[in-house]
Amino acid sequence: MLLEKNVPLRMCVACRKKMPKTELLRIVRQKETGKIFIDETKKADGRGAYLCCEKECLRLARKKKGFERSFKCRVSGLIYDDLEKELEHI
Ligand SMILES: [Zn+2]
Repeated sequence: MLLEKNVPLRMCVACRKKMPKTELLRIVRQKETGKIFIDETKKADGRGAYLCCEKECLRLARKKKGFERSFKCRVSGLIYDDLEKELEHI
């Protein structure tokens, strides 16, 4: 079995499974502006929340308001729409 020792684990907001950070989509909330967006670089400053690259998890996140819970603020439905588009490219 291949061990990826240096990849930190992060939890998916939907299924709450822990996965290597590199395999998850990162959504970030910027501290100063409160702006929420998909962090394609995975390096943006701010509080991050993660989602598996799975349509099922996106559906669940939308239903359970996973990002709202993680950021403790309102998250526009557009973010979920963007994520949906993002998942179509994977
Ligand atoms: Zn998941």
